[in-house]
Amino acid sequence: MFVANATAGIKLVADALRDYDARGFWYGYHADAHTSLVGVGGVAEQGSGCFLDDQDVQGWIEGLATEESNAEDCPILFAYPGQSNMTGRRLPVKWCSDIRDSGRKDVFSLFDAASLASTSPLDLSESKAAPDFTVVSFYKIFGFPDLGALIVRKDSGHVFAKRKYFGGGTVGMVISLGEQWHAKKTTSIHDQLEDGTLPFHSIIALDSAIAVHERLYGSMKNVSQHTSILAQTLYDRLLSLRHRNGNKLCSIYKSSENYTGTGNQGPVISFNLKDSMGNWIHKSDVEKLAAVKGIHIRSGTLCNPGGMAYHLGLTPGEMRRNYNAGQRCGDENDVINGKPTGGLRISLGAMSSANDVEKFVDFICEFYVDSRASRELIHANTESGDVIQPLSPLSASEFYVEQLCIYPIKSCGAYAIPAGIRWVVKREGLEWDREWCLIHEGTGAALNQKRYPRMALIRPTIDQENGILRITLTEPQAYPNSSIELSLSRDDPSLGRSTELSQATTKKSSTVCGDSVTVQVYSSDKISSFFSDFLGVPCTLARFPPHQHAARYSKSYKSQRQVSQLNGHDNFQLPGSMPGTFPDFTSNASNEPQTPRTQILLSNESPMLLISRSSVNKLNETIKNGTRPGSTTKAVSADVFRANIIIAETRPRISSPYTTVHQKSEQPYFEDQWSGFDIGVSRFNVLGPCQRCQMVCVDQLTAVRSEEPFSTLAKTRKVDGKVLFGRHVCLSSLDNYEVTTVTVKVGDSLTPFYE
Ligand SMILES: *Cc1c(COP(=O)(O)O)cnc(C)c1O
Repeated sequence: MFVANATAGIKLVADALRDYDARGFWYGYHADAHTSLVGVGGVAEQGSGCFLDDQDVQGWIEGLATEESNAEDCPILFAYPGQSNMTGRRLPVKWCSDIRDSGRKDVFSLFDAASLASTSPLDLSESKAAPDFTVVSFYKIFGFPDLGALIVRKDSGHVFAKRKYFGGGTVGMVISLGEQWHAKKTTSIHDQLEDGTLPFHSIIALDSAIAVHERLYGSMKNVSQHTSILAQTLYDRLLSLRHRNGNKLCSIYKSSENYTGTGNQGPVISFNLKDSMGNWIHKSDVEKLAAVKGIHIRSGTLCNPGGMAYHLGLTPGEMRRNYNAGQRCGDENDVINGKPTGGLRISLGAMSSANDVEKFVDFICEFYVDSRASRELIHANTESGDVIQPLSPLSASEFYVEQLCIYPIKSCGAYAIPAGIRWVVKREGLEWDREWCLIHEGTGAALNQKRYPRMALIRPTIDQENGILRITLTEPQAYPNSSIELSLSRDDPSLGRSTELSQATTKKSSTVCGDSVTVQVYSSDKISSFFSDFLGVPCTLARFPPHQHAARYSKSYKSQRQVSQLNGHDNFQLPGSMPGTFPDFTSNASNEPQTPRTQILLSNESPMLLISRSSVNKLNETIKNGTRPGSTTKAVSADVFRANIIIAETRPRISSPYTTVHQKSEQPYFEDQWSGFDIGVSRFNVLGPCQRCQMVCVDQLTAVRSEEPFSTLAKTRKVDGKVLFGRHVCLSSLDNYEVTTVTVKVGDSLTPFYE
């Protein structure tokens, strides 16, 4: 039977068994089962159970043979995977014939070969021993087409006879007017089951896929041999990786002791990494870096709930607690209470090469093997918070504001505030920063640059004098650039209906979940086609309402220091936790007090972001030094960090009696130690470090993605699995900013203060 995927095949069997006997059926499955198998339990009226291991299954099968069967017995379906999609372990095919040989009537086997068949032969030629039902996914074998199959042993085909539903193409005749009657097709089993139009293009393509696969690889046996050699190599290499202090890097999840060479292991490896101090490395961190390096790795619970819970040692109680605390499939709550919530998986296939294995191991070594000596490690880890390298303040340095930038449209290009203009700073950030966003016209979700890098080429300008927001589309190849002018006033007639910003805009893993934001949408066709044509997605501009009505709240920061700083001042403190917000799992103690939140607009995490020119320069130096000879590196521009305030420093030359020494005038990452700073009479507080993602890899001039600077940052600027660069800052609440207006301008000098 051709079906959409293996899951559809499983469901077809489940539905048939539900209708097979008026009492329904009992369902048993192995702990290694894929989620799609586990789900069958939902339609098993007689209940279901999970066999914890192979002995469990064998004991049950022996019981079938010895127990007296009687007429009251209800039908049973037993399902298991031919190969665990998590650990790659292969389970005995023999169980299917053992069940049949037990002589018990109406006990059926469902063999999930989706993972197994992708790299090894599936031999069903011995029909006496074959499973009653077998499912496969062709795309896992051939890559294309997206198609699956349910293979039914003909002797077990009668199970489908009582299936209640019938779809087009499965019936010999239907009477629907006057009376209700239909007759199933009697030609063959698949004729009765293939509901509706078949995916005929895919079925035709399958023929070519099989032919090409055979031409390239010869046979599935070749594929099996090839992949198991690769898997063996990869396994040995990963397992041998150690940090310089001797601690192991990889924890590989496997069920059998004799891992390879026995034919009971497929080329799938699931694992987690530990740093040199024995802490779990966050899986999503590895996944992001791998993506930057062009490596596709799967992370999470891998659709294998039983296997994951077993290998991670998660009890049902713990899993429920994690769920209640906000953990969801696909999110970035990687480690909760010191335990990983999922893992990483690599799968090798026919087209994988020894070179791929080398590349992957190199990647792991490059980013995760800690080659520092123990002494340095202790030093690095005793630093209190976010400080990466201890530095001593050199008072001779003078800092000044080198550049001020705002991002009037969230995720679009920067507007650099011209020198000489004083810009207003509000509690929620620089004036006009993230005042607008682009929303998808279908879903209402705010667009972002991670998904649409070309947003970097949309450059807004604020013309306060004439009250105009000018937006220019800067196509690198095309000239002249097109632009549009809108009024800065909220009375702009093209500002139309209000709409709730779709929840899809909120990051799954962050504290913004659950907050709803209402934006005002520009309804003019001219405006929406201006943006839609450029980005190739139906979207339009929307404006955030005046901040009093719908502010979001900035991430809670974990440092106690910041808590106390903010706590003292009531006008800064907003009501505690927002409905639906997540606690910050990354903080070590789970019962830390809730930190107050700071009002912000659409900016991501805090009112303002500060970076230092010296740190950017240092980073570029590091990128250059880390580059393999021969390959070209391009220095990254400071604007990839999308900061609001870029500071630079000047240091006077130091004269010695003999010569004038040009003292190295840069102290990179000095800002890491600041707890705040003054610009003129205004005080700013540092809220905490800024965590970075791959978005810093989008060149803001060309909208082209590359692997830097994220790749180098990940190697040199990581703390607790987070890649940090820049500082979140806000206006201090010491002054009453409701009455005085704070302004800054390029060139203002800045006086930092330290803990
Ligand atoms: C992939 C997989 C499935 C699900 O297959 P689909 O084609 O996505 O429905 C089921 N079981 C195992 C073991 C798998 O690896």
